[in-house]
Amino acid sequence: ATPPAPGPGDPARERARLETAIAAAGAALCALLARLGADEEAAGIVEFQVAMLEDEALSAPAYRAIEAGAEAAAAWRAAMDRALADYETAEDSYFRARAADLADLRERVCRALAGADTGSIPPGAVFLGEDLPPSRFLETDWQGGGVALFAGSANSHVAMLARSRGVPMVIALDAAAANLVDADLVDADLSGDAILDGEAGVLVLNPSREERVLYEAKRRELRAADARARRHLDKPAVTKTGEAVTVLINVAGPEDLSGVDPKHCDGIGLVRTEFLFYRTDGLPDEAAQYAFYRDIVAWAGGKPVTLRTLDAGGDKPIPGVTPRGESNPFLGVRGLRLSLRRPEVFKVQLRAMLRAAALGPVKIMLPMVTAPAELAAARALLAEARGELVRDGVDIGEPALGMMVEVPSAAIAIDEFDADFYSIGSNDLVQYVTACGRDVGGLGDLARPDGTAVLRLIAAVVRHGRESGREVSLCGDAAGEPAVLPRLLDAGLRVVSVAPASLARTKAAIALYDGAEHG
Ligand code: PEP
Ligand code: MG
Repeated sequence: ATPPAPGPGDPARERARLETAIAAAGAALCALLARLGADEEAAGIVEFQVAMLEDEALSAPAYRAIEAGAEAAAAWRAAMDRALADYETAEDSYFRARAADLADLRERVCRALAGADTGSIPPGAVFLGEDLPPSRFLETDWQGGGVALFAGSANSHVAMLARSRGVPMVIALDAAAANLVDADLVDADLSGDAILDGEAGVLVLNPSREERVLYEAKRRELRAADARARRHLDKPAVTKTGEAVTVLINVAGPEDLSGVDPKHCDGIGLVRTEFLFYRTDGLPDEAAQYAFYRDIVAWAGGKPVTLRTLDAGGDKPIPGVTPRGESNPFLGVRGLRLSLRRPEVFKVQLRAMLRAAALGPVKIMLPMVTAPAELAAARALLAEARGELVRDGVDIGEPALGMMVEVPSAAIAIDEFDADFYSIGSNDLVQYVTACGRDVGGLGDLARPDGTAVLRLIAAVVRHGRESGREVSLCGDAAGEPAVLPRLLDAGLRVVSVAPASLARTKAAIALYDGAEHG
């Protein structure tokens, strides 16, 4: 039987939320400290805050309140308010001066708590901060705004989400610039005072009139280039030599589909379902998941939809689901590994997907498959779920069961994996082949999807797919890069899945592809 999902008052969950928020606040402060360098006064403040966060005497009352049923933010705020009162009324001026730093700390942890749950960034904001978790990104209405981060990497999930939604994002902002940025502006909305150039990776604070005019011209040019690419949207994707290429889209939920015309793509090659699990009120039940999949299948109107099972972990932690304290979550219990350890959670998802498959051509895809036995175990669970639904007289479909090829062990020994189809996850495959974390900035030159090693693996998977009659697609962000796409086509790929915002330029790049030129 499925255990009841933890609710907002569940002490274990609230404790985990507070631990995560304190850890996030601590990490942000340490990163800030690293940037402050020789500024001793500022560093002293931040060092004090880091030490306070690590002091268990400060957080213990909050954890006690949580055990007694309090919600994490309320418990933390009350505990901090009590500590603050002591500082504010202290005889010693040193302690009184520290009160403001403590209040800042209280708010920082509250923001971290809120960030995981509620959107606190105003609509259209230009957000400047250390980093941004995918959940917080998703909760924000970025229309007209954007994101500038001191940390971050182009391959992180939040960068990927920003690309798929066409939200300008600048990562790894120059550390030197950090010193020019007033501390009050960090974690703040700069709209009106800043121009964000996602193309060049530049944040211009307090732009002059000339700069505004210049960037307005640049924006017009980009719009014109977009308009040219959009002329390809209506047409099927065909190379210069007349070969058809299937172009699918990647989405994280029904909201990604507003503004996309189903006629412009051949279906959905990847639904990242983990974003459905970012909720404060427990895991989504079968009905909630079914409704989510149903809306996506309805949008596709008879075109194929590939639903990926939960890929939590790595840079997509889900409190209460993913293990805490892993030294390297990218090499930890994530993706299918996690689902197989939580069969009661996995089964709910498989049941909802089987039911959605009654409504249209749904495929199920497993993330992070590493060994053939995992695939077999997932297949057995799927058969079990199917058996239960049939017994209960529930309508279901017969979805194909495929796998992501994103772990080198799978790519290298692909012939041992008896999946119905393969989809290459170049984001993770590149990270694991090149030993460059996708959350690490500054390694872009090494973490190339068009490096020889990655391309050889892709070509081998495509070859095996052809020989064994299985479809091979690629759903990593590499397919949406016009400069990389020709190399993927060289490797034999003829099915790609890209972010909706990349659809037009991907089709435009396919139309330019002349196989002879590239080998
Ligand atoms: C990938 O790894 O390329 C992929 C498509 O999955 P995700 O980016 O969600 O990890
Ligand atoms: Mg992946």
